[in-house]
Amino acid sequence: MSTALVWLRNDLRLADNPALHAAAKNHQKVVALYVHEEAPGLRPIGAAARWWLHQSLESIARDLAEIGVTLEVHAGKPEAVLRAALKGHDAETVYWNRRYGPAERELDAGIKQALKSDGFSVESMPGNVLIEPWLIQTGQDKPYSVFTPFWKNLRTMDIAAPLPAPKGKSSRFRPVDADYEEPHWAGKLGQYWSIGETAAQERLTTFLDESVVDYPEGRDFPAKDVTSRLSPHLRFGEISPRQIWHTAQAFLHAHHSKAGPVDKFLSELAWRDFSYHQLYHRPNIAEIPMQEKYSSLRWRHAPAQLRAWEKGKTGIPIVDAGLRELWETGYMHNRVRMLVASFLTKNLLIDWREGERWFWDCLVDADEANNPASWQWVAGCGLDAAPYFRIFNPVTQGERFDGSGDFVRRWVPEIAALPDKFIHAPADAPQDILAKADIAIGSTYPRPIADLKQTRQRALDAYGAVSAQA
Ligand code: FAD
Repeated sequence: MSTALVWLRNDLRLADNPALHAAAKNHQKVVALYVHEEAPGLRPIGAAARWWLHQSLESIARDLAEIGVTLEVHAGKPEAVLRAALKGHDAETVYWNRRYGPAERELDAGIKQALKSDGFSVESMPGNVLIEPWLIQTGQDKPYSVFTPFWKNLRTMDIAAPLPAPKGKSSRFRPVDADYEEPHWAGKLGQYWSIGETAAQERLTTFLDESVVDYPEGRDFPAKDVTSRLSPHLRFGEISPRQIWHTAQAFLHAHHSKAGPVDKFLSELAWRDFSYHQLYHRPNIAEIPMQEKYSSLRWRHAPAQLRAWEKGKTGIPIVDAGLRELWETGYMHNRVRMLVASFLTKNLLIDWREGERWFWDCLVDADEANNPASWQWVAGCGLDAAPYFRIFNPVTQGERFDGSGDFVRRWVPEIAALPDKFIHAPADAPQDILAKADIAIGSTYPRPIADLKQTRQRALDAYGAVSAQA
């Protein structure tokens, strides 16, 4: 009886899983493996994502058992784990879906070569992006550095149809990862999320049925719940981008809806592919600015301000609301991610890598491509980034996108009693209004840790000096 291994990584799903599909088609017996990898150069997973991963592995273990596949969870050097499993199960082939980070690619290529030279076969498959990064290029056969032409090209391409989940006999369910220790704060995350492939599919359906129509206008307003919140599911591959792509197109046809909202949603999904494009083509995007001149920008060393930012105690309500949402739920709304990142890298002039690392640890959707690419985008050193002199003012942004203050009131309850007029700038409120709302600036709520006007000028000077070098 021929046996195959499927090495699961960021693809914790049964449907549209090319590696699992091929293994089930070509072999009588399939064993799935997940390895908590110990390998040089791999970025250790952050705490919130680790919490998600644990639940997601439990979920896929149950789903795999339904089709007769056992999931084994190991820790160690992946090559040694795979070698031992191949021998232990008397298997001849390993299947996996590709990953795109430079360190992962190098690792995978080494493992492939080593196993092949020992007579095993290894099959790596596409499945975690819409289009493999090397299959989409500019007219000059170069990687893209601007999103709009990337998207124009991508939308004309044939995106492969998703594969069905393999069928099979049921096996016994084995609980996984028994020695996992839940971080002390992680318990609270559970109330905000349903984890696993079925939950991801349900979220997509609900989003299309209830929210996509409001997506283009509503997606910038953090108090409205109109975005898909598929990001952590995509991060762990509980749903594939191809499934989202084709389900959204089918929805469009079935409902004879106007293409606009679905199109807008798919263009945002394409930003994810664009980030992976950058991850694939650039060296270590979590550390190295994609526009090299920004390596010489003189960041401030301001640990107390960084700490205030992390804890949501900057005295700028929308910034504090976003960072508290992150701490509480493992998620932050996209518009607010942009605002808090801009406040850190421009107003505080603190290195984008500090913020990127904080997000990496706290986000359930912390993604090796989207997180660094987006931070670089906001900091102005990324590809297709906003010009450095366009600096968000978090107060006017708050007034525009959270006009009634609902988002701020939800996460910064100590200022909730303020009238709308002052909810985004409590320190500007007259004393009698503050007293009526039971607020003492500097005591019950912080005084702003930065003067927005002065720090804007400081950022313009620092960025301008770098820009002038080019
Ligand atoms: P929707 O609006 O419903 O979009 C659907 C999907 O499209 C998302 O799940 C995501 O996969 C993709 N997408 C949407 N917007 C973007 C974008 N701007 N860039 C890349 N892909 C996008 N996204 C992550 O998945 N992981 C991260 O670690 C991450 N870090 C970020 C850090 C900063 C500083 C910023 C500004 C953005 C970051 N993003 C990250 C992008 C974006 O904020 C999230 O993808 C989005 O908020 C997730 O919510 P959603 O699933 O409801 O998005």
